[in-house]
Amino acid sequence: MVRGLFVFILSFVTFVGSFSSVTHADPITAADGSLVTVLPANLTAPGTLRPLLEEMLRRSPTFRQQVSKLRAAPHVKMAIRYSDVSSWHVLRAESTVSRFEWGAMQVDTQLYTVRDAVEVIAHELEHVCEQIEGLDVRQLSHQRNTGVYSVGQHFETRRAVLVGRQVAREALGLTLGSAPPTHPTE
Ligand SMILES: [Zn+2]
Repeated sequence: MVRGLFVFILSFVTFVGSFSSVTHADPITAADGSLVTVLPANLTAPGTLRPLLEEMLRRSPTFRQQVSKLRAAPHVKMAIRYSDVSSWHVLRAESTVSRFEWGAMQVDTQLYTVRDAVEVIAHELEHVCEQIEGLDVRQLSHQRNTGVYSVGQHFETRRAVLVGRQVAREALGLTLGSAPPTHPTE
C-alpha cells in the first residue's frame, strides 16, 4: 500500500439517472477474438467482472482507448469492486481518487449496481482518464460551461457521462446515436 505524507483526495459519484438506460438483457457472446483484450495489470476487478471487461474491450473502440490510457500510466492503479448493492439506491457508483505526493494515484471504484455495469464502469474509468490528464475538476467546477460540476463534496463531468453511454452503445453493437443528455449529472 502506498503511503504519503500528503494525500489529495477527489471523489466522484454517479447518480441513478432517469434516462432509460441500455441494458444488456441478452448475454454477451464471444466476438471474433482478433483484438487484444488483455486487461492491464494496474486494473483490478472481481473475477466475475473480468469476462465482461474483456468483452467490452473486444466490442468497444472507446473502451480500448480508455484502457490503453490507463495501461500507459503505471503510476495509476484502479481497483473496482462491488459494494453492498442492496443498501444504495441513489448512487450507481463512487470513485475515490487518492493522489500521493510523489505522483502515485490510487482509484477505488465501488459499484452499487449490477445493472448497466458496462456504462457505469466506462463512466468511472473516464474519471480516471481525466485525472491521468491532470484535469483540475475542483477549479473547473467553479467556472461556467466547463462540463464539470460539483455535487456536494463530489464531482461529476459531462465527459464521463457521454463516454459511459458511448461505450455502452458500442459494447452492445449499436450504431444508433442517442439524444444528448438534458442534465449533466443524470
Ligand atoms: Zn461520474
